[in-house]
Amino acid sequence: MNCERCSEDASVSHHDVDGFAYYLCVPCAEEWDAVRDATTVIDAAGRSPAR
Ligand SMILES: [Zn+2]
Repeated sequence: MNCERCSEDASVSHHDVDGFAYYLCVPCAEEWDAVRDATTVIDAAGRSPAR
């Protein structure tokens, strides 16, 4: 199956992103997780009541 991010024909796994189902290869999934983690951190910091 093809990765929906890089279109590589590879072994993909299912990921739920913002309510959408994506099939990503391992490198893309790891990248995606890193991006999501970074976004979560920024989002949490932005909403911090300490500011
Ligand atoms: Zn990929």
